[in-house]
Amino acid sequence: MEAKSKRVLTTCVYCGTGCNLYLHVEDGKIVGATPCDSHPVSQGKLCIKGWKIHEFIQRPDRLTKPLIKKDGKFVEASWDEALDLVATKFKETKEKYGPKALGCLSSAKCTNEENYVMQKFARAVLNTNSVDHCARLCHASTVAGLAASFGSGAMTNSIDELLDSKAILVTGSNTTEQHPIIGGKILRAKEKGAKLIVVDPREIQLAKFADVHLRQLSGTDVLWLNSFMYVIFEEGLEDKEFIKNHLDPEAFEEMKKVVTSDKYSPENTEKLTSIPAEDLRKAAIMFAKNKTGSLVYSMGITQHIQGTDNVKSCANLQMILGNMGVYGGGVNPLRGQQNVQGACDLGALSNVFSGYQKVVDPAAREKMAKAWGINVEDMDNKVGYTVVEMIHAAGDGKVKALYIMGENPMVSDPDINHVKECLEKPFLVVQDIFMTPTAELADVVLPAASFAEKDGAYTSTQRTVSKIRKAIEPVGDSKPDYWIIGQIAERMGYKGCTYSHPKEILDEINKLTPIYGGITWDRIDSDEFPFGIAWPCPNTSHGGTMFLHKDGNFSRGKGKCHPCEYVPPAEEPDEEYPFRLTTGRVAFHWHTGSMTRRSPTLDREVRSAYIELNPADANKLGVRKNQMVKVSSRRGEIFVRAEVSDIVPPGTVFIPWHFKEAPANKLTIAALDPVAKIPDLKVCAVKIEKVK
Ligand code: SF4
Repeated sequence: MEAKSKRVLTTCVYCGTGCNLYLHVEDGKIVGATPCDSHPVSQGKLCIKGWKIHEFIQRPDRLTKPLIKKDGKFVEASWDEALDLVATKFKETKEKYGPKALGCLSSAKCTNEENYVMQKFARAVLNTNSVDHCARLCHASTVAGLAASFGSGAMTNSIDELLDSKAILVTGSNTTEQHPIIGGKILRAKEKGAKLIVVDPREIQLAKFADVHLRQLSGTDVLWLNSFMYVIFEEGLEDKEFIKNHLDPEAFEEMKKVVTSDKYSPENTEKLTSIPAEDLRKAAIMFAKNKTGSLVYSMGITQHIQGTDNVKSCANLQMILGNMGVYGGGVNPLRGQQNVQGACDLGALSNVFSGYQKVVDPAAREKMAKAWGINVEDMDNKVGYTVVEMIHAAGDGKVKALYIMGENPMVSDPDINHVKECLEKPFLVVQDIFMTPTAELADVVLPAASFAEKDGAYTSTQRTVSKIRKAIEPVGDSKPDYWIIGQIAERMGYKGCTYSHPKEILDEINKLTPIYGGITWDRIDSDEFPFGIAWPCPNTSHGGTMFLHKDGNFSRGKGKCHPCEYVPPAEEPDEEYPFRLTTGRVAFHWHTGSMTRRSPTLDREVRSAYIELNPADANKLGVRKNQMVKVSSRRGEIFVRAEVSDIVPPGTVFIPWHFKEAPANKLTIAALDPVAKIPDLKVCAVKIEKVK
């Protein structure tokens, strides 16, 4: 008989840090969460979201039954009825319009195994590569930029190495709020003597502790990064040995020619970046002279139309300083959602199978088709639609049926008014744990089990694959995502997506995904690896990889520099829309707020959306603290409370995007980075009016 009271070790469902915690269960109810002292990253600590993780799981408004929309209203249905309807519609759509008319959004909130099954379903059953997920909105440029530079698109070093870095350059990451446990480690490194350089338009908490804080105008990152390198070459501070031995010489010379041109001198970039030349010189020299230095970034770097070039420029900087392939160095993108790394690794991207094996590579298709028992000729041989493209294609009538698992584009995607118009057109299936604004638009809603109700694994930002464990039975009639996908596939005539337990899925992943080859179900639960293994781990004799590109041996061979010229944002302030809007998150909420806003403790801290407005701008507008203002862009308007604060510089405003009743993404622009197809969520032009 099951114990009435127990605690279950699992991995946090919010950010990519991957803290382990115990869920406390009493009589089938989750009553609390406590940290795990022996976990190597969290070491007995959690942030407030982790401590309060239990508060949303068994909320009374969990989705507990399948729902079918009839005459504009949701009606409860049996699983058979709902699954039959979905399978029939998908089948009809494929037969009538072809595979390109179907698309799937997978989820960084789901497990590795579920993401693997979703992309397998898209490719083997629907025969489309149009499967993508929210990494496209946060770190697609990381995957593209770092893969082009190093041959691998992930965080190069591990979190705890920060404690021994001699210099840490943090840019576009509000680390103490978004990855608080990692933020704490950066502060400990600072206490131990590391130099801390923060490059961020806002005066974030870390900036208060920095040796230098540079406040660039959002969207000018290539400028200041090139300017950093200009100074490093001017001062002769580049690592000549590393460059000679480990970098592609032609690519290096091409890049050097660009960054040393006059236009990137600190004096010449000052006007566009708003960074004083003298401060930039000081920061560049400080970072170059204190080796080994680590570069940490997040979405302030990636979410731009120049996101891939921003990432490549970060890679250029770390390569010329010889900060690659060494303990305490590296280019370290902090991944947002707890399993966005895993969802990418397992192929929930429109261009790659699991392990970043390219869909356009005939050998990779052949391998998958054989393993999946399908005809290779039936597979899509082109890159599919990405998130934004897929939604726009639905609006254009090209995508006729859309299957969304655990994503909430009605809050997360740019230009929400347009997203709504698009999502109203196709046959829409949404699988989630709560009725989100996206689920409200669906034809069929399928109730999924939460992370506390199933087994599986997540991959943290430092590439460590660790377990989540079932603590309670699924709420109501909800089911694990992999089960639901398998049932739809079976009804469409394919049994290869049916598994009785996630272990079977991971067994298949091990066989087909070289970087996960040795990350088996039993090993990541063993005494040897109680908290998981970091990829690449090619076989079961391998202990995993703490940092990549050891001794300058890059995954692609020689490291490749890229010449990146500055391109301005897609939309900048003008007379009509005079403010530069940048968006982000707050410490108490997570992404679209579907979980944290259901946690009473977290919701109490920040209940509604607000706009940070510099006092000088507030004065000019005659706006006082807490006054409601209308914020509008060329795409929409929202009403928010004013937070008058010099956290933002004059001319720049900031709105957190968690709040569905005032979604910042009604204002943002769907302009895309041409390589990674990531939208420019960090810069658009808005105007602000007082509300009477
Ligand atoms: Fe969870 Fe991230 Fe907080 Fe750790 S730092 S408890 S993983 S939200």
